[in-house]
Amino acid sequence: MEGRLSVREILLRGKDLVGQKVRICGWVRTRRDSKAGVSFVEINDGSAVRNLQAIIDYSRFGNLVISELLPRLHTGASIMVEGTIEPSPGKGQDIEILVSHIKVYGEADPSTYPLQKKRHSFEFLRQIAHLRPRTNTISAIMRLRSALSYAIHDFFKKRGFYYIHTPIITTSDCEGAGEVFRVVGGRNITEGSEFFGRPTYLTVSGQLQAEIYALALGKVYTFGPTFRAENSNTRRHLAEFWMVEPEMAFCDLDGDISLAKEFVTSMIEAMLSECEEEFFFFQKFIDEHLMDRLTTVLKKGFEVISYSDAIKILSQHARELEMVPSWGDDLQAEHERFLTEKMVRGPVIVIHYPRKLKPFYMRVNDDGETVSAMDLLVPGVGEIIGGSQREERVDVLVEQMTLKGMNIEDYEWYIDLRRYGSVFHAGFGLGLERFIQFLSGIQNIRETIPFPRTPGHALF
Ligand code: ATP
Ligand code: MN
Repeated sequence: MEGRLSVREILLRGKDLVGQKVRICGWVRTRRDSKAGVSFVEINDGSAVRNLQAIIDYSRFGNLVISELLPRLHTGASIMVEGTIEPSPGKGQDIEILVSHIKVYGEADPSTYPLQKKRHSFEFLRQIAHLRPRTNTISAIMRLRSALSYAIHDFFKKRGFYYIHTPIITTSDCEGAGEVFRVVGGRNITEGSEFFGRPTYLTVSGQLQAEIYALALGKVYTFGPTFRAENSNTRRHLAEFWMVEPEMAFCDLDGDISLAKEFVTSMIEAMLSECEEEFFFFQKFIDEHLMDRLTTVLKKGFEVISYSDAIKILSQHARELEMVPSWGDDLQAEHERFLTEKMVRGPVIVIHYPRKLKPFYMRVNDDGETVSAMDLLVPGVGEIIGGSQREERVDVLVEQMTLKGMNIEDYEWYIDLRRYGSVFHAGFGLGLERFIQFLSGIQNIRETIPFPRTPGHALF
């Protein structure tokens, strides 16, 4: 007896397992009864897209057992089977399991179980967020998400970065990243009785705190949940999402761009080799151009253009756009996608944005008008990374904060980092869910996170 194996292990070892006795636990996807006294049960245990086919030969069990067993073996039931791996004569699989022992742990009443064998819309699945991980698409994306998270840590560890846990509850609210969530403590909170003695918020980014550690440990990154009370329903915004934020001392914008490129390429390579079956599924059922797009990134690389050039290009294509931006306007999703999908047909890095569009901490360029910012845009999604070289000069930083109407007193600690042993430094933020959208081809960001939070929606 090989003991208990996952479906993934069994399919991986394939014909090598023929003749071996194995045990598997999982959920019934479908059952089909043939007239020849055999039932075929497709079992999925969440470890692979493919199911393992189990053959129940009635002659091995006796009619009494079968008549008791079959009514309990419905789509969704949890079961354990033991049996021998046999070569499969059927189409679609190399091997199957000939069942010698079967146990039903939990039934799933077919008159109420919502996940029957048919395609369900993603909108419907979001309403049953507790059951949707039992579908192929959501389970494949979550396996990718898990593999990606490990690969991210691995990437930074190999390059000498330290993993810093920046706080979830913060006191800085005017980072310029968007609307914040307020934090209040206790059930009977009264006006003026702040738990921390001052207003606090859920973090919109770990960057400012990561800078503190970069200016002490050299190269650091944070990787954790981030919150923005974005009051818009788009297919690429969540109220709670995960961000990866490296921050490096002694690093300028070019170094920052190099790291971003290397990061995106390495992650695509790592995922293509680790999640082969999942990509096969995404390509077939979600986006037929997915592989093309991902391999183009590896082959063609990234184009770097300045914001000013981007504006020129966009105004030359005014007829193809709903809104034409002029210098000083923010790039809308429509513009980002035009640049990456129509102009370049691949990833684009837009640099040197107007100073007034970007937050106070970005380094002001010699022209006095732009900052050393970079946004990485990809086809299908738009912006997945936003980063910059940080302002390391006390006087320029204070000027920036004054221009943005910030309260300098709240940021003395941040200015101290420039008063004492200041260095040029840079970093970026990558939205994990946007990156998963890009990697899987899935349309809506709500399918990339186990429990999506958006305006009006928070289940569990
Ligand atoms: P956008 O303009 O697309 O809303 P942003 O410029 O406000 O994004 P940044 O503050 O630069 O975003 O955040 C860094 C990265 O975090 C973005 O490039 C994106 O990948 C991700 N991100 C930002 N906001 C969200 C959100 N609401 N939901 C999911 N990911 C987000
Ligand atoms: Mn941005």
